Amino acid sequence: MKIGVLALQGDFAEHIVMLKKLGAETAEVRLPEHLNDLDGLIIPGGESTTIGKLMVIYGLLEAIREFGQGHAIWGTCAGAILLSKDARRDQPLLELMDITVERNAFGRQVDSFEAALDVEVVKKATKTDAPFHAVFIRAPIIESVSADAEVLCALDDGRIVAAQQGKLLATSFHPELTGDTRFHEYFLTLVEKF
Ligand code: GLN
Repeated sequence: MKIGVLALQGDFAEHIVMLKKLGAETAEVRLPEHLNDLDGLIIPGGESTTIGKLMVIYGLLEAIREFGQGHAIWGTCAGAILLSKDARRDQPLLELMDITVERNAFGRQVDSFEAALDVEVVKKATKTDAPFHAVFIRAPIIESVSADAEVLCALDDGRIVAAQQGKLLATSFHPELTGDTRFHEYFLTLVEKF
């Protein structure tokens, strides 16, 4: 299985480390032709406005939109924003997932936090029971999820932080910044399934 990680800006290197731990072949994606032989794609955290502008410059906005018609894509944090249909701001988006997000919804950098989350689909796919340690850094909230998409996880106060729409996955937090590979393992099951 070969998984690409969009490598324009943000923490793409950390995703590559996690994928390698799981034995997947990896590739850094900087141009449309880098998508050619991939089975799936991860869009990392970073700054969604910057990544979006670079995607436009390198012709990747259209190319990834097309890739997403037939392949699994996972966006973490800024990546989740880029997958959304609406981020309530004027910025380039892939608009592949029928979700609305609110950027920086938890406040500024100093308001970054960590939480233990129970994500049932991940527990089931990895046959484990421990909660998932999630890192939130100037994270978005997934404000709304259409009927085509499902909520995978919400905080205790109900705010949605992970959603899935078929082969598309969005998380507000950063599984690539922990030692826990279970979310990446779950994504690989989606890559295989679709
Ligand atoms: N605040 C960033 C944005 O709105 C996302 C932060 C992150 O990816 N950790 O794009």
